Amino acid sequence: MHNFPVPYPNELIYSTVARASIYHGITSPKQLLDEIFNNRKVIATLDLPCHLQSLSEQLKNTGRFSLEELIYRHTMFPLYAPFVTELHRVRAMQLMAGRSQGAVHLLLGVAASRVKTDNRLRYCSECLKVQSQQYGETFWQRNWFFPGLNLCPEHGALHLFAVGTTEQRHQFHALNVKIPNLMNDVPINSDLMHLAKYARQLIAMEPEYSPSFSQWTTFYHDLALDLRLCRGKHIKHDDVYSRISDAFHHKTFEQLRLQINPSRDSCWLKSIFRKHRKAFSYLEHALVWRALIPDLSTKEIVALVCKIKPNNKFFCSTTEQQKVNNQDLLRKRQLWQQAVLEVGVTAARKFGKGKALYAWLYRNDRTWLLQFNAEYHQRKPNPQLKSDWHKRDLILVRRLLRWFRASEIDYSVPRLSANYLLSQLKNKSTVEKNLNKLPLVHTFLQRYSETITEYQLRRLSNACIQAYRETSQLKSWVILRQAGLSKERLTADSKRVLAELRLFS
Ligand SMILES: [Zn+2]
Repeated sequence: MHNFPVPYPNELIYSTVARASIYHGITSPKQLLDEIFNNRKVIATLDLPCHLQSLSEQLKNTGRFSLEELIYRHTMFPLYAPFVTELHRVRAMQLMAGRSQGAVHLLLGVAASRVKTDNRLRYCSECLKVQSQQYGETFWQRNWFFPGLNLCPEHGALHLFAVGTTEQRHQFHALNVKIPNLMNDVPINSDLMHLAKYARQLIAMEPEYSPSFSQWTTFYHDLALDLRLCRGKHIKHDDVYSRISDAFHHKTFEQLRLQINPSRDSCWLKSIFRKHRKAFSYLEHALVWRALIPDLSTKEIVALVCKIKPNNKFFCSTTEQQKVNNQDLLRKRQLWQQAVLEVGVTAARKFGKGKALYAWLYRNDRTWLLQFNAEYHQRKPNPQLKSDWHKRDLILVRRLLRWFRASEIDYSVPRLSANYLLSQLKNKSTVEKNLNKLPLVHTFLQRYSETITEYQLRRLSNACIQAYRETSQLKSWVILRQAGLSKERLTADSKRVLAELRLFS
């Protein structure tokens, strides 16, 4: 789609797509999907949408909105990222680039979480005033959609619509306050407002390497130690419970549906202070942080966890490798992941900075590097483009036409055989094998590849022009020699044309 709207700060991608439908006057949901994604099966997802690579490409001209920026600034992904393992974080981003079919929600634990996502659309009337003043229009803002918290972290109460996004799976609704809606009936208390602040800080965080489960385990264990909530190695769960329940109004847990039953061994509060085996939701973490370390911001807490000496297989293990500064290592891993996400492993290894990064990681962090690359290979980053032959056909034929136009004036190029034309493409052999699926490329080759006669005539014309310029006369043997041809090698058609020109008899 031309002129895909530029997302506003903090605007959900869902909302930008909905605005695109208004700008272009497209009322049919399927037509909208066709125009934007070239795919009619895209599902309108509020929190963790997919097909973001194609949107990033449509926004290329802005010089912004890389895949990572779209994910971190315009989806709810940062609410989950620090709490899942690094492998899951990267895999989820890959899925969000292309097709996911629900896998992102499974991977980030949304589907199994105790905190349920409410898909009803909602807005904050105070925020709307600010939007109208600043931008002259309104849009769905990320911080109205924190799972489990139906409130605006700045102003509190929200207006909820009866419709959710699940009723019409392919429809992107633009924000329209004229549709009947109701004020949020959930009483907003200061507990909820405090928790929302953690969520607001999380969605503003920069893309970062996720701590491992073992780092989270150590963090909570050390926290209990510091606050004397331990007896020897053992956590005093009853004491933890009383600290947490004292910090909040008793109805808060009920409202969040995160009730704590201290007599049950499987209650979430006990689990978060034990060995982490799966991700906890941001709200569970935030409840503990608010009660036990209220002065620390989300960013400070995550930074603390990242600093804990990692103890898992993804970190280097030999003494040699342990000398490497961890921060430096994490930064380099991040840069490598970005490069791979953008261009793939093979290409990333070839270009300047990627080459050096690869060499460095190979020396210092081989286990992680090989594992990451293997993972990446297993998950094709953009399966849709891989199988979308029509789209490929269009891209390839455009590339060929561009090359052809640029080299048309150059009469000295070798014979434009189909083989030579195809060798102008990077992935020549794949194209060659799949020509039956690429009708446009096939037609291009038929139309523009040169026969031997055409090639001979091109060389002869060049020689004629040159000879005439130099000597003002045309002698057949001079022309043949300059064209690198002999009478014997001329095709019958070439001979006929030359005879008509009375150059040869
Ligand atoms: Zn607001």
